[in-house]
Amino acid sequence: MELKQLTKNVYYTTHEERRDRPCLGYIRDSRYPVMVDGGNSPAHVAEYLALLAAEGLPRPKLLCITHSHWDHTYGITAANCFCLASEKTNALLNTMAGWGWTEEEMRKRVETGEESLFCDTHIREEYARPEEIQVRPADLSFHQEIALELDIPVRFFELVSPHAQDCAVILADGVLFLGDAYCSVPVGEDWVYDKELLAAHIAALEEIPFSLCVKGHHPPQTKAELLAELRREFSLL
Ligand SMILES: [Zn+2]
Repeated sequence: MELKQLTKNVYYTTHEERRDRPCLGYIRDSRYPVMVDGGNSPAHVAEYLALLAAEGLPRPKLLCITHSHWDHTYGITAANCFCLASEKTNALLNTMAGWGWTEEEMRKRVETGEESLFCDTHIREEYARPEEIQVRPADLSFHQEIALELDIPVRFFELVSPHAQDCAVILADGVLFLGDAYCSVPVGEDWVYDKELLAAHIAALEEIPFSLCVKGHHPPQTKAELLAELRREFSLL
């Protein structure tokens, strides 16, 4: 994992495939530095904080969550920030906060489809002891959009997405933190896009003023590169 700087105030840490660790963002601020996404575990968060400290960047005080999936949220407790998420994301986090982590409970969720095999496999890769998982909801939830009046304006808003029903994105300094909003979803062995949702996602992205995007599980792209890739995916559907 590496810390990279995109603009004067915006940084991110690189993703990792084996343990399904997504990129995490950092927005520098003199009062309330922002962490984007909570990481998949206390170990992931500890690595992120160590990279910030090595660069002399202050520890984040606010945490913005892009969606409820485990790899973006199971580090919320360890991040120990004031945490913000959409109402939709928070409802899902509240449900997950009640989950048990015995072998039987984990197996049952995969059987019923409440959890995907893809996530279950990676959770076991990240956690030697899944019973140590602690999920907690955000401290503040919002509907549609919230504006953070920091040194640079930060917009945090819901965005229609083919990946999940609760996607929200963060826009700061011309950088759009997408979380997984651009991603398809795993269906069996395949990753599949819903055509209507992808069309709506592309149309929504076209209206957002950003020059670079940070993707949850891929390297950053320019707006033009992202739109070209998504339009290509759409043309294959
Ligand atoms: Zn996701």
